[in-house]
Amino acid sequence: MCGIIGYIGEKKAETLIIEGLKRLEYRGYDSSGIALIDKEGNLILEKKIGKIEVLEKYLQKFTNDATMGIGHTRWATHGKPTDINAHPHTDCKHEIVVAHNGIIENFKILKDILVKKGHKFISETDTEVLVHLIEEFYTDKLEVAVRHALKEIKGTFGIVVISKREPGKIVCARNSSPIVIGVGDGENFVASDAPAILGHTKRMVYLDDNEIGIVTKESFNIINMKNVPITKDVQEIEWSIEQAEKGGYPHFMLKEIFEQPDSIQDTMLGHLMEEVGDTRLGGFRIFSDQELLDLKRIIILGCGTSWHSGLIGKYLIEQFARIPVEVDYASEFRYRDPV
Ligand code: GLU
Repeated sequence: MCGIIGYIGEKKAETLIIEGLKRLEYRGYDSSGIALIDKEGNLILEKKIGKIEVLEKYLQKFTNDATMGIGHTRWATHGKPTDINAHPHTDCKHEIVVAHNGIIENFKILKDILVKKGHKFISETDTEVLVHLIEEFYTDKLEVAVRHALKEIKGTFGIVVISKREPGKIVCARNSSPIVIGVGDGENFVASDAPAILGHTKRMVYLDDNEIGIVTKESFNIINMKNVPITKDVQEIEWSIEQAEKGGYPHFMLKEIFEQPDSIQDTMLGHLMEEVGDTRLGGFRIFSDQELLDLKRIIILGCGTSWHSGLIGKYLIEQFARIPVEVDYASEFRYRDPV
């Protein structure tokens, strides 16, 4: 549950990226970030925990003339929600920037190798290995480095990558996490979800798994992992933004009902380790094992649907953890004083 957006063209990238992130907001996120390359070739990288408005307000303190960049809303799987762990992530030389949806399963092994080679890591995320790996393979073409780096990765990804050395392109790729290229006139977009860019173009090119897109403001090219060019059709989306956000259903309510299996799967993605029968709580994990064992009582707060979900949670937690659970209306709880 996270979002990616990229823009390259003539317009102010910051405005378009923030607007796109807001359109992806409904998916849920814990932090957001933006990377821009301005006309002098400077890299501007800002990341903030919390709502997109926090990032937006912070950016208002500065001006920039960047017409290309990428943005991300994060749903933490590896490392707490913090400013530093928020995406995009950058390499040791602050040249390359990556925003990533998904999980890099073999990040620990790769990180150990990269640290031995002298790479300096600053975040707790799995994603940061990818940007250092790209740095390792980078000679003159970003897409070549990305392709070599992705060959080393086990896991799921939807990514956008930019480099200060090649400010005229955005490289994107996917494996099990959607990426769409929005084709404009003298400008192009990349997103994890078409509604994020549907206000600007209705012409979409959907990447399939293990495809890499090289997007400039005038063109887009797709290759596979073996560097073979792929021809793809541009699909004309007939839906309005509103219809697209409703996924073709006449009402949000129907969409939400039918989306439940996917929503649950997306929410759990990366948090359940079926093979070992355990969980990885990542950003959710704010208590130590001992603190969890010491819990005497749990109160779940919600309103409407989340209150009903809380009732299911109550049964599950009491059954598995044997800790008494109450479910309360959040709107009423604020008038109580139980602690
Ligand atoms: N695994 C990455 C992280 O924890 C990406 C999470 C996401 O998909 O937002 O930072």
